[in-house]
Amino acid sequence: MTGKNVKALKKLKKSYAWSGMLVTLFLSIVMVVTLAILTSAALQYVLESWISAEYDRISYMAHMYDSGMTEELKRLDREDRAYVVIDDDRMVYAYGKNTCSGIGHPIKVISDGGFLDIVVYHDTESQLFSIDEDTLTLDMGSFMPNILNPDMVIGINAPDTFKLPLWIGVKTVDGSIFAGRSTLDIDKNDLMFLGVVAGVLAGVFMLVFIFMLIRLILGIRNRRRLTKLVFGDEATGGNNWIYFRMKGEQILRRRSNARNHYAVLDIVFFKYRNYCVCHSVAEGEKQLATVRQVIEMWLGRGELSAHYASAHFVALVKADSNEKLQNRLNDLLGQLSCVDPAHNISFHIGVAYLDACSEHHNNASHDCPIDLERDYNNACAARATLDETDGSAIAYFTDEMVEEQIWEDRVRERQMTALLNEEFVVYYQPKYNPADDKLTGAEALIRWQSPEFGFVPPGRIIPIFEKNGFITEIDHYMIRHVARDQKRWYDTGYKCVPVSVNVSRAHFVEEDLAEQIRDIVDSEGAPHELIELELTESAFFDDKKALVSTINKLKSYGFAVSMDDFGSGYSSLNSLKDLPLDVLKLDADFFRGDSDVDRSEIVISETIRLAQALHMRTVAEGVEVKEQVDFLAQQGCDMIQGYYYAKPMPGNEFEQRMNAG
Ligand code: C2E
Ligand code: CA
Ligand code: CA
Repeated sequence: MTGKNVKALKKLKKSYAWSGMLVTLFLSIVMVVTLAILTSAALQYVLESWISAEYDRISYMAHMYDSGMTEELKRLDREDRAYVVIDDDRMVYAYGKNTCSGIGHPIKVISDGGFLDIVVYHDTESQLFSIDEDTLTLDMGSFMPNILNPDMVIGINAPDTFKLPLWIGVKTVDGSIFAGRSTLDIDKNDLMFLGVVAGVLAGVFMLVFIFMLIRLILGIRNRRRLTKLVFGDEATGGNNWIYFRMKGEQILRRRSNARNHYAVLDIVFFKYRNYCVCHSVAEGEKQLATVRQVIEMWLGRGELSAHYASAHFVALVKADSNEKLQNRLNDLLGQLSCVDPAHNISFHIGVAYLDACSEHHNNASHDCPIDLERDYNNACAARATLDETDGSAIAYFTDEMVEEQIWEDRVRERQMTALLNEEFVVYYQPKYNPADDKLTGAEALIRWQSPEFGFVPPGRIIPIFEKNGFITEIDHYMIRHVARDQKRWYDTGYKCVPVSVNVSRAHFVEEDLAEQIRDIVDSEGAPHELIELELTESAFFDDKKALVSTINKLKSYGFAVSMDDFGSGYSSLNSLKDLPLDVLKLDADFFRGDSDVDRSEIVISETIRLAQALHMRTVAEGVEVKEQVDFLAQQGCDMIQGYYYAKPMPGNEFEQRMNAG
């Protein structure tokens, strides 16, 4: 996954809740504020229009008063007619019930496109208006309770109307104030209508709000699900690699971790596939989930783990001291081995220490870039060195492994071309009878004459071919070339001897292996008795029944079959019992090292006797000194393949040996 994708995922993880929440909150506030502004603007408009009209009316009355038309003034027959004339804060004239507060408040109202300065007075019986900075507003705090209890409204008895009284003052000619009472009539039905409209609007807003809230909740749930899909691991219920990379980078970049050293681990459930075959995939996944839990419980603060794939887990752990980490890993292996006590399961751990560069944690990160993919790959490379190791084990990544990896990749790239160009050469190592020093056989051993890499010994390529599966091609190639050489030598009239060819264990899974070999040898026309096949001990651990059947078939076609490297690694005495082999090759380890010579000789002589009793011929490999040759001859060993007699050699040199007998 690219860094770009990781960034995008980080964004997704961070932003999903807040953006939706903020948008919903913002829109809700906008809606409420808009509603409030519209309502108050409408009310203000009504109020100002009323005041403006009332001002005109009171001005007319003041004019009548100025003109001395007080009687006519009284006759302006209106129910709520009342006015007072105030002179220097003293009332000089009043008509009707005087409820004028007498304290004037200047206000400004819009009238005919301009502003009108008006002085208003509260009604002492009902203070339903408030005046603030030249602006008159309806005091909702006082008005609302009156709506709920109309009897409280001070005003004229009018069952369908709320009457809100206010006094408006106008200056008379003699300088006193003529204040007349005005009432703002609010029709209850209008109010109700307004209430209904406001209610409907509020309801609509509420619905919109609820809808948005539901959408937001659903959105968050969907994003959670998406996040789980992207970052979660289905098999174990834990985190996956994408999450590991993202979170791991965050941990490494954190300034507070600047002083910590870290290591990346590749933790593998060894032979997980076998476990699944023996039990079931579901059972296997159940165990993986338990493994995940064990690893997570084992982790310390600021450490991280995830399921990588199949049987692999990845972890980022603190590694301030090698010894401490080693102890912790041993502890982890101990805990993991208890995951299924009924079965002997084991785990391999590869460890890659991260570059100890504190620049990770400051701005100069490009000097020491974080690359968890590379680090995990290194941990895997270390763990891969344990592939053949049974039982739980730990391996640490070294720089040589990088070189090894590069070599492996180059071999892999060129192997096919090398095969097609016949760059692989067959070397023959003769086998001699120690009793009379006569040539009695040979082993075919591969060499690579590479135009690019020069002469490459098998130890540098065979393990790679075994790993990448190309070994079966090599086995075919070797059998074909040996058969071709044997046919040529046979036709030329040389005293041919059987030549053994190594067959890898990877080949033994193929049911028709014996037929394949027979067909190849036949296509070259070589006599079957001149070809022998060497199996390695480890091959015998797989399907024994199939193995016995293959060996029997090979023998029935006239090929000899030998067990290679007998005595190395695990004991295969049991295999000897079951497998109808012709030849037993004693491993070179018998003749090396500084083990007790007497004891070695007992083991060698008894092994030869055992082989003889089972009607098998014996070949001793890796024999370099005369004493060993003499001893083996004494014990009745049939053949010796070792530097004492000859090193592996090209075909033309071997021809000469054959001729020499
Ligand atoms: P191997 O099958 O056990 O072959 C014997 C190895 O021991 C050969 O190494 C041989 O040169 C070496 N050897 C024999 N006598 C002596 C001795 O007296 N002293 C010492 N120090 N070494 C001795 P080589 O040729 O390097 O092959 C190494 C291994 O590579 C072989 O071990 C075999 O496992 C594998 N190999 C070689 N050619 C082939 C092949 O064509 N196919 C397969 N599948 N494996 C091959
Ligand atoms: Ca061999
Ligand atoms: Ca061998």
